[in-house]
Amino acid sequence: MIRQIKILDKISDIQERAKAMLRRFYGYAEFRPLQLDIITTATIGQDCVVLMPTGGGKSVCYQIPALLGDGVVIVVSPLIALMKDQVTALTANGIPAAAVNSMQTDAENRHIMEQLFSGRIKILYISPERLLIEIDRWSRDMNIRLIAIDEAHCISQWGHDFRPDYTRLARIKELYPHVPVMALTATADRLTREDIARQLRLNDPKLFLGSFDRPNISLRVMTNPGKTHKLNYISTLIDRYRNDAGIVYCISRKAAETMDMELRARGYRSVVYHAGLSVTDRNLAQEKFINGDVQVVCATVAFGMGIDKSNIRWVVHNNMPRNIECYYQEIGRAGRDGVAADAVMFYSYADIATLQSFVDESGQQSINAEKLNRMKEYAEASLCRRRILLSYFNETMDHDCGNCDVCLNPPERMDGTTLSLMALSAIVRVNGGAGLTMLIDILRGAGRQDLIQRGYHLIKTYGVGRDLSFAEWNAYISQMIQLGLIDIAYNESNHLKVTPYGARVLRERLPVTLAKYVPFETRKGRKARQKEQEEQKLKPAEQLLELLKEVRLKLARKEQMPPYIIFSDKTLLEMVRTEPTDMEAFARVEGVGEKKTVKYWKPFVTAIRKFKGIKEPLGAGLSHEETLLLLNAGYDVEGIAKAKEISTRTVYNHIVTLIREDKLTDFSPVITREQYMRVMEVAKSNPEEMYVILAKEMPIGLPSVGLAVSDYLLRRKANEK
Ligand code: ADP
Ligand code: ZN
Repeated sequence: MIRQIKILDKISDIQERAKAMLRRFYGYAEFRPLQLDIITTATIGQDCVVLMPTGGGKSVCYQIPALLGDGVVIVVSPLIALMKDQVTALTANGIPAAAVNSMQTDAENRHIMEQLFSGRIKILYISPERLLIEIDRWSRDMNIRLIAIDEAHCISQWGHDFRPDYTRLARIKELYPHVPVMALTATADRLTREDIARQLRLNDPKLFLGSFDRPNISLRVMTNPGKTHKLNYISTLIDRYRNDAGIVYCISRKAAETMDMELRARGYRSVVYHAGLSVTDRNLAQEKFINGDVQVVCATVAFGMGIDKSNIRWVVHNNMPRNIECYYQEIGRAGRDGVAADAVMFYSYADIATLQSFVDESGQQSINAEKLNRMKEYAEASLCRRRILLSYFNETMDHDCGNCDVCLNPPERMDGTTLSLMALSAIVRVNGGAGLTMLIDILRGAGRQDLIQRGYHLIKTYGVGRDLSFAEWNAYISQMIQLGLIDIAYNESNHLKVTPYGARVLRERLPVTLAKYVPFETRKGRKARQKEQEEQKLKPAEQLLELLKEVRLKLARKEQMPPYIIFSDKTLLEMVRTEPTDMEAFARVEGVGEKKTVKYWKPFVTAIRKFKGIKEPLGAGLSHEETLLLLNAGYDVEGIAKAKEISTRTVYNHIVTLIREDKLTDFSPVITREQYMRVMEVAKSNPEEMYVILAKEMPIGLPSVGLAVSDYLLRRKANEK
């Protein structure tokens, strides 16, 4: 019983401190679901397996335990580019971190290990192969707080990214049986999950299964858009997010190169990325993307692993991906900051043929065929797309999402019986020898040479559908395929065939309902239009946002750091919402931690004040509270005077006020231990003359601080009595 209470006490203490650290170092007010539980579990020493989608907030789960006491957190990660990014981000937040990997020289790595042993690093990122070398050299009583294994699915052959080095990580538990291990991944089915725990020899691990929903990503599928439509649509996205970036995923290297060329021809800043490029070129492309130098990267699936950029605003799939896992991971790279982002997929039957051939060549045909099928079902869905995605990951959602094309644009139904009969009978009359384009041309009575050569202009249905545009027929026949009236023979140059069900419809003239066609450009439902109007209203806010993005970019260039590491888009939006006009207000913005407050408040606050037309110079109205903030951020008196451009005497005056108001109770930043002892001595022996005595032997400002300190101690004593 007593033990129980003690543990509960300990847990509430951990949680309180964890929350303070989240506020102080990251500037966030609240934990996301599961984060606090995970941190607590690790801190009381229990193993755990964490499943959360990309962008779910896994990093905080293993970083905060490092701030809750001594000892280092070791993070095993296979992605070297990501390590660098994470270390930069942590350092920017004032958390001492470093990475050890094969990209650095031996001397660099050795230096970092020395710093680690002397306790100057709180979080160490390390690649698995490097850890396996180092770990045998470490002393058994090294103070390790937690070992986090990121991308833990790499340990399993069941997963899609197996790395043999990972299987040897069981060594960790052999050497450090009492150090808690946290395995994290964004993709793991049940099989992989169990494999992770078993292979790492985790001790009765607690499982944390986060929701895979990413409500801020809007979902959209466009069926059979032409090449120009695709390009126009991508252009619209780039224009909409002109200061941010997006990704166009293409089915092949060649396709990625072509897309890149076309976008550059349209005047956009684009780069190409695929596995066929040299390492240097790939790194260069990645760097340009991360640093915000380009608006778009045209890539194959090779791109994205280890990209931690939080302000990717859109992802386009120029072709359908091969399964939902891949698709979800790829769109998940957008909107990691939680701000609205767009995921658009172009879907065409030609893609299916290509993907089908991939499946046929793959080792696990039946599984892959099934996965492709599920992907196709998603693309063709007339139900809320998010519900379909989540149900794929075994998560149920009891309402429509309101942020996918189906929800925003519920299709209008119409009687499609006549149209279906036209199409079906045309297919029958050409003996299933026509593909989609040919069939439409027959129905519309086009004079194509090969059509006439084959005598298709002589059949009875030639030209019966000329009232409808090509795009309309395209959309309706697609629906007939989805309804199962027509089948595509992928092994016969994608020719269309009438299914047995289609034959029955034709014979018995069964009614067919279709969704009414809406042209791409005007495809906006009432809700979508409403949303757009609301966005229009935000005009001044948008202006301010752009302004703040410019400030961020300038700082990023100066510090040679990716812009999103300075502040995420979400944090900039918070600034737009709250419009902080002084340091204190700036410090309260969600996403602004202490270190960044001190470092960046001036340029941002200045921009906001200018935007709001505030004329009085900045600096007026600076208060002692700001001094407190700086003291807590680790600044000394000199540093504060410099940061605030005020005299040290004024800083001391602030400190006196703070002590008198009981706001500053830890005196170590303002007075040394010796000075403190001297103050106490004088206070005891000669309290009346204290100020005079101290003024003689201590620098300006200190005597008054000494006085305030001794007052404080006396007050506390009185209170204790
Ligand atoms: P993951 O590693 O799971 O892909 P990250 O750890 O990179 O995700 O987190 C994604 C984004 O969410 C980051 O910008 C991070 O700063 C932010 N984030 C994490 N936890 C919180 C929180 N409690 N409140 C607000 N933002 C958070
Ligand atoms: Zn929906």
